[in-house]
Amino acid sequence: MEVWQKEIINALLLLLVVSIVGVSTGLFLPLMLLLTLYFLIYQLYQINRFEHWIKTGGRGKYPKIKGIWEEIYFHVYRLRKNERRRKKKLSKIIDQFRQSTEALPDAAVVLGENDEIQWTNKAARDVFGLQQTDRGQRIPNLIRFPEFIEYLRVKNYSEVVFLPSPVNKRITLEVRIVNYGAGLRLLLAKDVTQVRIIENMRKDFVANVSHELRTPLTVLRGYLETLQDIDEGQSPLLTASLQQMQGQTERMQHLVDDLLLLTRLETQQRKTVCVNVPSLLNQICNEGDALAEIGNRIQLTLLTDVHIMGDEHELRSAFTNLLENALKYSPEEAVVKVSWYRSETEVVLDVIDVGEGITSADIPRITERFYRAEVKRDKKISGTGLGLAIVKHVLMRHDGKLHITSELGKGSSFSCRFPSKKICN
Ligand code: ADP
Repeated sequence: MEVWQKEIINALLLLLVVSIVGVSTGLFLPLMLLLTLYFLIYQLYQINRFEHWIKTGGRGKYPKIKGIWEEIYFHVYRLRKNERRRKKKLSKIIDQFRQSTEALPDAAVVLGENDEIQWTNKAARDVFGLQQTDRGQRIPNLIRFPEFIEYLRVKNYSEVVFLPSPVNKRITLEVRIVNYGAGLRLLLAKDVTQVRIIENMRKDFVANVSHELRTPLTVLRGYLETLQDIDEGQSPLLTASLQQMQGQTERMQHLVDDLLLLTRLETQQRKTVCVNVPSLLNQICNEGDALAEIGNRIQLTLLTDVHIMGDEHELRSAFTNLLENALKYSPEEAVVKVSWYRSETEVVLDVIDVGEGITSADIPRITERFYRAEVKRDKKISGTGLGLAIVKHVLMRHDGKLHITSELGKGSSFSCRFPSKKICN
């Protein structure tokens, strides 16, 4: 039988007994009043006990009682027990999470809305020299590198920033911030010292090898020219061999020059001046037309005469590479359009051809070093695969971006976009 049913039956029985006694004694009304009072006082007493038990945390066993109140106590007791169990489980998970993040080899710092430190792991305290007591302090007051403060200010967290460790300047840290939760951010820092050392070794190696190859190549070219002069086309086999050798040494020379230029782009400071881009483009296009087998292929449109801050030599290399590619990868008589114009936020150089185009799978890869798209052509087109890597590097050094759009068989458009802040005239 349900507890409620039992409770009601008990009450009705009591009522029946009191009614019988009341009728038989002639005291029906006073007895009824007494019964009602008894019910009222009993319930008030139980409510008071219950309230006291809940107020003291509802801990431990509940008071001994029968009926509906026992049921109420039991349900509340069970709810609290479950809640306690859940809490215990949750705090165990939090503890485990804390322990694992504490043991992470990478530094992690939780930042609040105002860049204040909310939590740090051991690695963060070690590499940034932070203390447990720094909680609540603003991180730019503790890590004071200008690049880091700028990184925090700009809030472009898709990028990373490299910093020396404030504790040991020989340690290089790659720092990134990720947003999470409501206004919270996680700062992560990874020790990339070894990667940096290897990267520098690679740069040095390429620079040294390219440099060392220059002299033997010059000597080889010199001798080849002398041999060609001596040969004067008398022996067809020798003439053909010498021509091939010359072609290959020229290719090698281009490769070495491109590698040296890339190394310079990676390692040297820019010589920044206000570059007259329209005049530079005029020169490059004239040179391009002079070099192409069929002249007047280049259509230059200067829609603005803005100059930009930059390194003239680097910009010349980048623009020349784009123009050479446009001429190289399109039919001999096809026009190449070059235009220099200004939009609201950018200054743009477009180099557009109607050549062989590039597949969408190749577009993201053609700026990689040595990557050359595989295309079936009637004649072989020579190249080093370094031209667009140079373009990308130069643009990066000028805060610019390279946008490539292309359709296979229809042509390509290479667009160099510089932010308006680069304008200098
Ligand atoms: P290279 O031209 O010396 O091979 P680049 O780095 O300049 O090296 O170009 C990489 C590759 O991108 C080229 O091999 C070519 O397949 C493709 N490419 C570059 N420019 C164009 C263009 N204008 N039209 C079609 N393909 C191009």
